Amino acid sequence: MSMQGSVLAVGKCLACLEFMLFPVWRGIRAGSGVAGGWSQGWGRCLRWELDSPDQKARLPVFDYPVWLVLSRGGRAKLREVCQRGRGAIRLPTEMLSIKLPQLFDIHQVPKVFREDNIISGYRHPRSSALDCVLSSFQMNNETINIWTHFLPTWYFLWRFCVLCSTMNFLTDSYTWPLLVYMLLICIYPFTSSCAHTFSTMSSESRHICYFFDYGALSLYSLGCAISYGYYVMPDCWVNSWLHQHFVPIAIGNTLFCTSLSCYSRFLELQFPQRSKALRTGAFVVPFIFDTVPLFYRILLCCSGNCGLTDALSSYCYHLLFAFLTCFLFTAHFPERLAPGRFDFFGHSHQLFHISAVVGSHFQMEGVIADMMSRRSWLVAHGVTPSFLGTIGALAVSLILNLGIIGVFSAPLLWKPCHSSNQPHTSPCECKEQ
Ligand SMILES: [Zn+2]
Repeated sequence: MSMQGSVLAVGKCLACLEFMLFPVWRGIRAGSGVAGGWSQGWGRCLRWELDSPDQKARLPVFDYPVWLVLSRGGRAKLREVCQRGRGAIRLPTEMLSIKLPQLFDIHQVPKVFREDNIISGYRHPRSSALDCVLSSFQMNNETINIWTHFLPTWYFLWRFCVLCSTMNFLTDSYTWPLLVYMLLICIYPFTSSCAHTFSTMSSESRHICYFFDYGALSLYSLGCAISYGYYVMPDCWVNSWLHQHFVPIAIGNTLFCTSLSCYSRFLELQFPQRSKALRTGAFVVPFIFDTVPLFYRILLCCSGNCGLTDALSSYCYHLLFAFLTCFLFTAHFPERLAPGRFDFFGHSHQLFHISAVVGSHFQMEGVIADMMSRRSWLVAHGVTPSFLGTIGALAVSLILNLGIIGVFSAPLLWKPCHSSNQPHTSPCECKEQ
């Protein structure tokens, strides 16, 4: 098709669009059989301004848009056309915008949802699961709590994948304590992140979410015990009574820790101080037990009986962050100094999460360094991890801890308290009695 032919085809096609506001080019006149030139579009525009039939006669002369503006009131009409056009091409914002959940102040939510010295940014106490997920992308007082444990989950998973590519976790039993440790270091931040995300579906769900959070932390302490028991134990303690019973005692510690921390939630409203003390104690006891071999090794090094290895320097950083984590958990610093100032950024629970993750990172580095560097010595002295002492211990502890969580969750599921349906209703306290 020639250039002229294609122009004509376009012209024919466009001619049928004369009803449109703006003119279209009909093609050239000569020999085409179609009326050429501009369509009547501009004429329509100009007709807005016509006052008399005489003026209509002059219409074909004004064949360019400039006349629209120059004619009387044309500028206003042009502005009107522009407004209409803008409205027509505007994106359907109502369809594209996602309505983020409304936030509430502390006095608008039931007591069970309130956090010390956090005044604003609370989510609805009966949020749907979708609202909870959406709220993780909205700035509220839980957003940073969610992300400070969700992102580290991926970091630890990445480290785990790298180790999987370099170690034989399937058949090399020496790596099984590290396998258990790496599984649990991925699970505990993920469970915490989920607990913070879905804790506002109801007051019952809040308790159950945190039961799982405590259970995952408790199992993580077992992972620490298993890895310390096989890789970190001081030379002089290897094959001692403590060494042989280290993992079974750690399983008992997880049962104690999960039970006590779950129970502490039932005292939270009536006896907040006692609840906090019990929960702190629940996690401090397994931490101290797990860390006894490490303390002893550091003590030996301080007295000059060993060189400071990479592993020990990592453990020192780990202990530093562990103490900082404990301080942040109990002290509620800095929001205690300025209630309401740290509702969204910088309150103690966020710092507690970050400190715990950094501490876990250094601990992981120490465990890996010890595992690599002490292998020949430990194997030579008969330290061979068994399936039952590693993966078996994890499986048994997982089942028992799930049972404990089930026992604490059952009364909440069977006797739901519905008084927290609305944020303005009185606090739901029936299960805290
Ligand atoms: Zn948390």
